[in-house]
Amino acid sequence: MIIRVSEIPDAGLQVEGVRDFPHPFEDPAWALEELSLSVLRDKDDVLVQGYLRVRVPQTCGRCLESIPVDVTAQVDSRFCPRPLVRGEELELAPDDLEVDFYADDLLDLDRLIRTEAELGLPMKPVCRSDCRGLCPVCGGNRNVTPCACVERLPDPRLATLKDFAVRLSTGVSARTSTP
Ligand SMILES: [Zn+2]
Ligand SMILES: [Zn+2]
Repeated sequence: MIIRVSEIPDAGLQVEGVRDFPHPFEDPAWALEELSLSVLRDKDDVLVQGYLRVRVPQTCGRCLESIPVDVTAQVDSRFCPRPLVRGEELELAPDDLEVDFYADDLLDLDRLIRTEAELGLPMKPVCRSDCRGLCPVCGGNRNVTPCACVERLPDPRLATLKDFAVRLSTGVSARTSTP
C-alpha cells in the first residue's frame, strides 16, 4: 500500500486490517496477520504509529525443525522527505530513533511492514525453551526419539600423549626438563 503524502487528510489516516496488503513480502510463506496503523502528517514529515503482527517460518536453532514465529512490532516511525542534497545535515531529535524517508510524495507502507518484520525476528529461534536439540553422536532429534548415545568429551590424558608424540616426531625432546 502506497500512500500519497499530500493526500493524507489533516485528521490523519487510519489503516486497519491486512486486506490492503496482499503481498507485502517477497517470500509467500511470510504472512501479515494483523495490522493497525495511524498515519499522520507533521508538517513535511509523516508519523506512523500502531502495531502489526507477522507470522514467519523459522528453523529451530537446536533441533532444526521448522517453526512458525509470530513477530509483533510496535510501530513508531517518523518519515521525512528524502533530502535532495547528498550529505545534507539532518537534525534528528534524540528521541526520534526510528527515522526513515519517503520520496516523491510517496510513502510505502509495505516497505515499513517488511522492515519491522525483519527487525523483530528472533536472533536464535527455538521451537520451545526446553528443546533438547539434535544428538551430536547419532544426529537424531532428541525431542522425538530419546537415544542412548553417550557424549564423550575428549580425554585430557590422550591430548597430552598426542602432544608428546608430536614432540618426539619433530625431534624436540623434553631435554629442558632434565638437568
Ligand atoms: Zn527445537
Ligand atoms: Zn544419539
